[in-house]
Amino acid sequence: MTTNNEKNKIDSKVPQGPLAEKWTEYKAHQKLVNPANKRRLDIIVVGTGLAGASAAATLGELGFNVKNFCIQDSPRRAHSIAAQGGINAAKNYQNDGDSVYRLFYDTIKGGDYRARESNVYRLAEVSNNIIDQCVAQGVPFAREYGGSLANRSFGGAQVSRTFYAKGQTGQQLLLGAYSALSRQAQKGSVKLYTRYEMLDLVIIDGKARGIIARNLVSGKTERFSAHAVVIASGGYGNTFFLSTNAMGSNGSAVMQIYRKGAYFANPCFAQIHPTCIPVHGENQSKLTLMSESLRNDGRIWVPKKKEDAEAIRAGKLKPTQIKEEDRDYYLERRYPAFGNLVPRDVASRAAKERCDAGYGVGPTGLAVYLDFSEPIQRLGRDVVEARYGNLFQMYYKIVDENPYETPMMIYPAIHYTMGGIWVDYELQTSIPGCFCIGEANFSDHGANRLGASALMQGLADGYFVLPYTIQNYLAGEISTPRFSTDLPEFNEAEKGVQERIDRLMKIQGKRSVDSLHKELGLVMWEYVGMGRTKETLEKAIVEIKRIKKEFWSDVFIPGDGKDQNTELEKAMRLADFLEIGDLMARDGLLREESCGGHFRLEYQTSDGEALRNDEKFSYVSCWKYKGEDQEPEMLKEDLNYEFTKVQQRNYK
Ligand SMILES: Cc1cc2nc3c(=O)[nH]c(=O)nc-3n(C[C@H](O)[C@H](O)[C@H](O)COP(=O)(O)OP(=O)(O)OC[C@H]3O[C@@H](n4cnc5c(N)ncnc54)[C@H](O)[C@@H]3O)c2cc1C
Repeated sequence: MTTNNEKNKIDSKVPQGPLAEKWTEYKAHQKLVNPANKRRLDIIVVGTGLAGASAAATLGELGFNVKNFCIQDSPRRAHSIAAQGGINAAKNYQNDGDSVYRLFYDTIKGGDYRARESNVYRLAEVSNNIIDQCVAQGVPFAREYGGSLANRSFGGAQVSRTFYAKGQTGQQLLLGAYSALSRQAQKGSVKLYTRYEMLDLVIIDGKARGIIARNLVSGKTERFSAHAVVIASGGYGNTFFLSTNAMGSNGSAVMQIYRKGAYFANPCFAQIHPTCIPVHGENQSKLTLMSESLRNDGRIWVPKKKEDAEAIRAGKLKPTQIKEEDRDYYLERRYPAFGNLVPRDVASRAAKERCDAGYGVGPTGLAVYLDFSEPIQRLGRDVVEARYGNLFQMYYKIVDENPYETPMMIYPAIHYTMGGIWVDYELQTSIPGCFCIGEANFSDHGANRLGASALMQGLADGYFVLPYTIQNYLAGEISTPRFSTDLPEFNEAEKGVQERIDRLMKIQGKRSVDSLHKELGLVMWEYVGMGRTKETLEKAIVEIKRIKKEFWSDVFIPGDGKDQNTELEKAMRLADFLEIGDLMARDGLLREESCGGHFRLEYQTSDGEALRNDEKFSYVSCWKYKGEDQEPEMLKEDLNYEFTKVQQRNYK
């Protein structure tokens, strides 16, 4: 593993000038493509989640020819549909002191000072446009009695800036984006390719010029060319096997472009969400999120006395029997200023700390309570039901306990990945012509994402940033004719894909894909999870290598490689998760500090908070692929904070 800062200087192309003027200045001076030329340019967008759908619809509306791919049978089934709690914007409708600067500041601080200032400011700036756009599309955001849009609070903020549609915000936003996309599909500016999986990027003369994708229904590989390729394929949380992500979420498209020269940034920054339904059995394949919005009113506690916790675990006591004075509302106790609404990394670690100390509840002891008895008393059951009804119903269906009558049990689970493909200010990767947006890029969230900011980032990228910045690149491509997919570069890429499929199909071993994936997940959770050390990370690298060897020698994939084959799809994704797991462990090992979701047990303050080392680690780690059997190289993008005072994060 080598580090090198001098030889390969990372240019993030951040415009000069005052923070608040950078984006306006950029837009005033960037190159544009005129309408006649737009019609001659093709863009591939991989992904139809909020990032991909909003980008494809907007680029289509601008007049480009867009080819939009997704692995589901409808763009509407992208993982974004699962988003529950809301989307942030600095509208300040509540008149509670919000502003673009405050949203910017909260995001930088929430990310533990590991995000790029210029991008985060732009994100806060365009957040308000997103709400206007979505309202115009008819997204049914919750409203106050008088008709104005309602807001609630999310972690890491002292204002209410989260717009929501009950507990189904992602679904409603995606329906809005999908309507816009469908309009373009109808007009012919967007062609949809559903049930297609990108399996490689085609590069010609150093520029991204197309993809190889597998038709998941017929099993055939096909070639697609374009003047630019946009990756919007979502996050890689499923590396951990058990996560809150949809089963189909994967890290394959990002690994394909990583292998072709795109840097993978901050892979070790993964978010563990504090509010999930605890693991309840060995044969489970999914974890369920209980939205952070519940922490607006719900209060988190564990018993104050160990004997009470033990009695609860043994089934001899019920939580409702624990008296008020015997409950430890540990977040309110430790963080009086933010209480139950501390950021996710802080709340997750605090839950782990209580459970590790023996105060956990539930049959495994790995759970804490989220209690609504006080808000039900204060507001009435009707109000609580109106705010969170569908989430309560979901909990009831899964756990078979009525959360209106007994506290919910929750525990942290893998939820989101802040790391991802490195992009510059224009959202362009280190491969010219290849862009990356949404959760798939290394994003604006630094080492920890604040709740309700992923939807904001995905839609900011898709509706308001990429449609500008991609033109700055495409303006130089107006005289490039359409590419034939018979070129040798396409032959070679398709041949490579076919060889990989053949290699997997030939193994015919004894292990199922899921059993190997589960094994990887356990290693990731145990050694690269909520508390990491040098030893655990080193162990993870060794263990992942072992599982990888087993995978490539003993995996069993039934069926045919040239037909519809879901086990083959899963196997190809697992091959990439194994590589991602290795990168996460390596990255975590080199980052000898704690920041946000990356908590190295060796680096903490005397009261158990993350201890950063700004002098040595105020950078974005950018991993560069060096070949199949070579160790990757780590390059650095230094982070310079010009407009924010970098300090110890404090939510007390
Ligand atoms: C349960 C849950 C609740 C959440 N709630 C919130 C919330 O309230 N607020 C918030 O801000 N964030 C929330 N998040 C996070 C947020 O939902 C995601 O970060 C966001 O939706 C990601 O959007 P995306 O467009 O980047 O990717 P996705 O929605 O994951 O879409 C990825 C797309 O890429 C396609 N794709 C992937 N690989 C390939 C390939 N190889 N070839 C072709 N297509 C491919 C998929 O088919 C899909 O269309 C939540 C996350 C979860 C798990």
